[in-house]
Amino acid sequence: MLISVVVPCFNEEAVIERFHERLTQETAALDLGPDLGSSLEFVYVDDGSDDGTLLRLSALAAEDPRIRYISFSRNFGKEAAMLAGLEHAAGDALVIMDADLQHPPELIPRMVELHREGFDQVIARRTRKGDRITRTLTARAYYWLINRLMDVEIVDGEGDFRLLSRRAADSVTALTEYNRFSKGLFAWVGYPSTTFSYENAAREDGQSKWSFGKLLNYGLDGLLSFNNKPLRAAFHFGVGLMAIAAVYAVWIVGGVLTSGVDTPGYATLLVVITALAGAQISMMGIVGEYIGRIYYEVKRRPHYLVKATNTPTAGVPSAAPAGPDRRVGRPVR
Ligand code: UDP
Ligand code: MG
Repeated sequence: MLISVVVPCFNEEAVIERFHERLTQETAALDLGPDLGSSLEFVYVDDGSDDGTLLRLSALAAEDPRIRYISFSRNFGKEAAMLAGLEHAAGDALVIMDADLQHPPELIPRMVELHREGFDQVIARRTRKGDRITRTLTARAYYWLINRLMDVEIVDGEGDFRLLSRRAADSVTALTEYNRFSKGLFAWVGYPSTTFSYENAAREDGQSKWSFGKLLNYGLDGLLSFNNKPLRAAFHFGVGLMAIAAVYAVWIVGGVLTSGVDTPGYATLLVVITALAGAQISMMGIVGEYIGRIYYEVKRRPHYLVKATNTPTAGVPSAAPAGPDRRVGRPVR
């Protein structure tokens, strides 16, 4: 059995060497050689870092033949980096983990053991211990909301740190959507899964790439990429408003009939017009979000471009899914 460890790295020069050292130490027991049934490969994906990450990776690869690296032409985001890693890893089991040592490498043997017991996904669930209380509370509220809306269930603390069997990984890479929300994709593919908890560690060095704005957008991505309930809610809201307006109209007409014309109701008018305009604009925003996503999907651009690699198969950008020839104006052969 070949075990691939897939590591997306973006500006991780401060920790990458330490990470690889820890990783090799903790997984040494798994590296028995192909004859004894298990060996390892490490697939590092440099997500367009602008520091020395690539230099360090190629130096590490020169020393350790088990290392493969793929370097992107620019920063395409962690989702694209994970996709590239899954696409180019050859393992029978694939472990995805962060480069900053927040995902303890010593858990890998346990994950492999659980995989051998027959699980296609082994999910390491982090506790929220040590997180700021505000972050914990927002996370809790977010997961409550998202699980009410989404087609698949995602669990707080269950992130990208997990082991996937070959068939689970193939299923994930077969989903070629451009707006990728891995938490949802992993849940969507299903297969027998198991979860265990681990205590969250602080980042060893370097900086987190998540700002509040990025987190907010990521959250929105999750909400919108797995359901059409916001569209449905917008529809219900519109119908509700129409019903209220109808009742109000009847009430006004009734008032005129019973007690004659009252003082001019421009204040009511203003309120109603403003409320309706606001409702319409926000509905348009929701519709626009979906159209924007469709726009990105139909362009079918590759998820990433490779600048440098020591993996021959990774030289070509990930191809768009097979389908009718989309090259306009070129003869189809
Ligand atoms: N990462 C990446 N591309 C990005 C942002 C992050 O490949 O655009 C990698 C990063 O190098 C790390 C992992 O994704 O290995 C998690 O990132 P980070 O530690 O910044 O996130 P956090 O742990 O704060 O959620
Ligand atoms: Mg981190």
